[in-house]
Amino acid sequence: MKLHEYQAKELLTRYGIPAAGGHVATTAEEAVEAARKIDPSGKGPWVLKAQIHAGGRGKAGGVKLAKSLEEVRDIASKMIGMTLVTPQTGPQGKVVHKIYVTGDAFYPGPSPIREFYVSLTTDRATERDILIASAEGGVEIEEVARQRPEAILRVPISPMMGLMPYQAREIAYKLGLSGEAFKNAVDFLVKLYQAYADLDAQLLEINPMLKTSDDKIIALDAKLELEDNGLAVRHKDLEVLRDVQEEEPLETLARQYNLSYVKLDGNVGCMVNGAGLAMATMDIIKLAGGWPANFLDVGGGANVERISRAFEILLKDPNVKVILVNIFGGIVQCDRVAEGILQVYRQIGSIPVPMVVRLQGTNADKAAQMLRESGLPLIPAVELEEAARKVQEALKQAVST
Ligand code: GDP
Ligand code: MG
Repeated sequence: MKLHEYQAKELLTRYGIPAAGGHVATTAEEAVEAARKIDPSGKGPWVLKAQIHAGGRGKAGGVKLAKSLEEVRDIASKMIGMTLVTPQTGPQGKVVHKIYVTGDAFYPGPSPIREFYVSLTTDRATERDILIASAEGGVEIEEVARQRPEAILRVPISPMMGLMPYQAREIAYKLGLSGEAFKNAVDFLVKLYQAYADLDAQLLEINPMLKTSDDKIIALDAKLELEDNGLAVRHKDLEVLRDVQEEEPLETLARQYNLSYVKLDGNVGCMVNGAGLAMATMDIIKLAGGWPANFLDVGGGANVERISRAFEILLKDPNVKVILVNIFGGIVQCDRVAEGILQVYRQIGSIPVPMVVRLQGTNADKAAQMLRESGLPLIPAVELEEAARKVQEALKQAVST
């Protein structure tokens, strides 16, 4: 589950991590009120930040400095409701429903302000959590990573020990910090790891981590993604932070149905049982020249109801041009899946896209017979490769007609 910057910062402060905080507003009036709360003298300046589940807002016009209350009102009324397109939103962009009003953290002082990059995530290559840091944080971090990877520090974290204070000191040193700022950064990093581990996060990114002019270290931005299984079991209280407005509606529906579904950009709807088989199915679709529209694991205990709900989701995706059902009947019985398919047909009269069906394993023969006798225009397949090829053929026809 992704969180908004303002929610992430609220959680971080619970762990003693200093963050540039403020107030959320959904109207221009609320934004002015928030600005007054932050600076009752009404002088400002303030920073207005679009709250969407994507980064890269700064360059896209989603982070703006306001120098008067009039400017706050003006910027807020333009920002709320706008569609923000950043490299992380996809070309369709995201509508801004909420903004965050904060004070300006860049006030001048005795020492220079600096922006650093730090993040914690899991590194699959080393099978550990990893702390990533760079002295060149801010809005150009992707460029830095591409052009000068050596400017990015990577510290693997022992799953037994967690982030050790010496590792935090090493990073703070390599970031070029000294004196109070060094001490504050070490404290910041140690607490950041505590928050990351404790919240079962899969990503905690602070970009920029700011060294202020008085040598404080604060989170100026915060991106936090909680791991869904941790959320479901250990952090049920954080479920209230979910913003369904920001999420893919089909994924929200799938979650209500308890189906493991991830929407993708392709046009082949996949219905599979078992996550491994689902991944293999997506691979072979791509190998045959297609592009999966989703990951969907209907699970080991798939029954008629689950199958028809899974169809409902696949058919709601307007990108789906062909459906591939690939079920291996181990615990699942193929005839139950066939019954599910027949039921869906009965319910909606017809299925508007071609459907390639591969049912193998327990009661496969019975299932094949049921589908044959139904007289429905299904495309049967025995081998997975054959199924992928038939998907391609159906796709070509669907696109040409
Ligand atoms: P992102 O572009 O979505 O990552 O949004 P950030 O919160 O990281 O903000 C982008 C950039 O806006 C930062 O790197 C800063 O340079 C600038 N910015 C953010 N907050 C402030 C602030 O309080 N004052 C000033 N002057 N600039 C800010
Ligand atoms: Mg940022």
